Amino acid sequence: MTALPVTLGLDLGTSGVKAVALDRQGQVVAEAGRSYPLLTPRPGWTEQRPGDWADATLAALADLSGQLGELGAVPLALGLSGQMHGAVFLDACGEVIRPAPLWNDQRTDAAVEEIERRVPRADLIARTGNRAVTGFQLPKLVWLREAEPQNFARTRHVLLPKDYLGFLLTGEMATEPSDASGVGALNLARKDWDEDVLGALGLSPDLFPEVVNSWDIVGGLKAQVAARTGLPARLPVVAGGGDNAAAGVALGLTSQRPEVGSVSLGTSGVLFVPLEGPTPDPGGRVHLFAHADGGYNLLGVTLACAGALQWLRDKLAPEVGFDALLTEAAGVPDGADGVTFLPYLAGERSPHMRGDLRGAWTGLSLAHGRGHLTRALLEGTACALRDAFDVMRPLSGVTSLLATGGGARSDLWLGLVSGALGLPVKRTDREPGAADGAAILAMPAAGLFPGLSGALQALGPRPGATVPPLPTHRARQQHREAFGRLYGPPRDA
Ligand code: ADP
Repeated sequence: MTALPVTLGLDLGTSGVKAVALDRQGQVVAEAGRSYPLLTPRPGWTEQRPGDWADATLAALADLSGQLGELGAVPLALGLSGQMHGAVFLDACGEVIRPAPLWNDQRTDAAVEEIERRVPRADLIARTGNRAVTGFQLPKLVWLREAEPQNFARTRHVLLPKDYLGFLLTGEMATEPSDASGVGALNLARKDWDEDVLGALGLSPDLFPEVVNSWDIVGGLKAQVAARTGLPARLPVVAGGGDNAAAGVALGLTSQRPEVGSVSLGTSGVLFVPLEGPTPDPGGRVHLFAHADGGYNLLGVTLACAGALQWLRDKLAPEVGFDALLTEAAGVPDGADGVTFLPYLAGERSPHMRGDLRGAWTGLSLAHGRGHLTRALLEGTACALRDAFDVMRPLSGVTSLLATGGGARSDLWLGLVSGALGLPVKRTDREPGAADGAAILAMPAAGLFPGLSGALQALGPRPGATVPPLPTHRARQQHREAFGRLYGPPRDA
């Protein structure tokens, strides 16, 4: 039996870690996962213990390694990906100082204000692609200095979650641009730490690891890790990408083909659009990050998408399936006979960047029923995506989107999104995730492809049929009016 060459990918998610092995055709031949707890020590705080990540990752890799042995598969390299923005604080010996605050942690309001006081917003956006954002890593460091000065004094290194895994596996500290651009202090044009931004905050660039390419080897698997997992010692570990970038890689999205982006109808709605150059929205209303292929991408995030439908079902119709709710909504026309839903159940990111926005149904009468409520909710989420896309469109060359996420099962929802955005939306024959992207990023180092672009072209899913767009003219007009009545004209920046 000839050995089957594979690369491995890790995705360090918020609920658990996933490990996959991909063959040279991009097919998953083995997968394993482990979960870990989310700590919420105070309202608005979300943390995880890096030690829990380490235990879960080593257990998942041992599980994967066992499966590979049975298959006769030989791992050639391992790529990393994971939740962005978290902060792992390490002392001079590389020991973890405190639990890591995560991407959705809300404790940093005062730190964000301090950053905005010390670095003019327009300057920060021009350099780093983003305004100061509560969840990013940089404000967490500023928070630590203020709130836990003893911990700050011991801090010699701050790592992103997946880069901490790289350190654990190889003993080397490094990061790569796609995740590093979610810190809030990476100069996007140079893809290195912005010493002026850090200097204005009195922070040393030495706190942060070296930035290498996403497809570069960080180091080899340590002997103790090899012994514990059964994987080969010195297995090359590749820097990888932040979870959005790695998911983009898995979908074959590349800045060499900036006309194809993606829309994910998951708990939140995410628009991912590749770009060749670092051109931010001057108001910072959508994110600009480095992509893992050496280019860039815009990211628009609307906080309520499939999560809003889940909420409606849980609260109003717990006994009814999603398909039945969507069938009721399909019989209701554009504009839901005058009912409008503003979907801001959790505030909004793109483009409003306002945590204080709230949801609302308006225009209800005795004639309306559950189908109208659901239809208005779907239309509202599509209009929220359109508001984000209005900021992205002039900056990008995107002409079609690949659909992902739980909501993409519905033709109605995709048709409304396609109609609202004015773009063709296509399903794909499979839906690979960030762990697959991490494994693809490891393929050049494994020698399976001469470069990343070959791997990206060969391994992406095949686009399926375009979903027929549905009219949303009335829905969008009602959305604009309802937003204006409740919140006034959209703020520009
Ligand atoms: P997450 O962001 O948590 O990974 P998923 O992408 O798995 O979320 O999406 C789950 C959501 O997908 C559910 O909450 C629901 O809103 C939506 N969903 C599930 N089934 C359907 C369906 N048949 N049609 C439309 N939406 C669906």
